[in-house]
Amino acid sequence: MPEGPEIRLAADRIATAIEGKIACEVWFAFDDLKRWERRLSGRKIRAVEPRGKAMLVRFTGSVNLYSHNQLYGRWYVTANGTWPRTRRRLRVAIHTRDASALLYSASEIDVLSDRQLKAHPYLARLGVDVLDKAVTPSVVRSRLDDARFARRGLGGLLLDQRFLGGIGNYLRSEILFVACIDPSRRPCDLGASEKVALARAALGISRRAYRTRGITNAPVTVSRLRKAGLRRSEYRHFVFGRDGKPCYVCETPIEKLQIAGRRLYACRTCQQ
Ligand SMILES: [Zn+2]
Repeated sequence: MPEGPEIRLAADRIATAIEGKIACEVWFAFDDLKRWERRLSGRKIRAVEPRGKAMLVRFTGSVNLYSHNQLYGRWYVTANGTWPRTRRRLRVAIHTRDASALLYSASEIDVLSDRQLKAHPYLARLGVDVLDKAVTPSVVRSRLDDARFARRGLGGLLLDQRFLGGIGNYLRSEILFVACIDPSRRPCDLGASEKVALARAALGISRRAYRTRGITNAPVTVSRLRKAGLRRSEYRHFVFGRDGKPCYVCETPIEKLQIAGRRLYACRTCQQ
């Protein structure tokens, strides 16, 4: 499933193509949304915004296209009149004069007013977004002390979008590794400096992944490994997907665990 950085990169691509433009034609695959085709056509696209793992295409007149891609959904941007080569099923098409934004395979799609967005079950529960520039380490730090989250294991908590929006499975492993924290510990078990390290890693690693299109490993390590001829999949992460391989810091073999139903990777030595 794409995580916050990937959703934001997709939103950037769509925004570049259609933001500020008039939607000449809008098409929906689902019958219950067909009535919106004519109502949205002719409106200007005000903004394209990621919200956690969801995306909003905001039209003038307080109307918003909400989509959550889950595992399979995928946005394509094409020149108007051209179609991508894919066997996926088209769900939404937004055509401007020059470009088309096409959503394939997603099933969670709705058209909502600004007011309805506030009450939407996913959006209303969404915690602060790790890629929102207004969110500082001290904001994350105070969430670690929040009674709703303080007694939950970090391995599961980091995937909960109510705690922090935008973190998914690869970011979870990478953040805990960089903060040197064992995934079985809870916020209430951590000392003050560990909370600061975790808050900084949660923001720093997610924002690095956004800037680098998904690479979380330390820049110096990445450039060394690239020069040595390694592929992206081999230098991309500190620990994620590297079970059995030596830790870049201490050479202990990386372990693969199962936490909250998803695979998690950790270094037993670095993450005490
Ligand atoms: Zn290590």
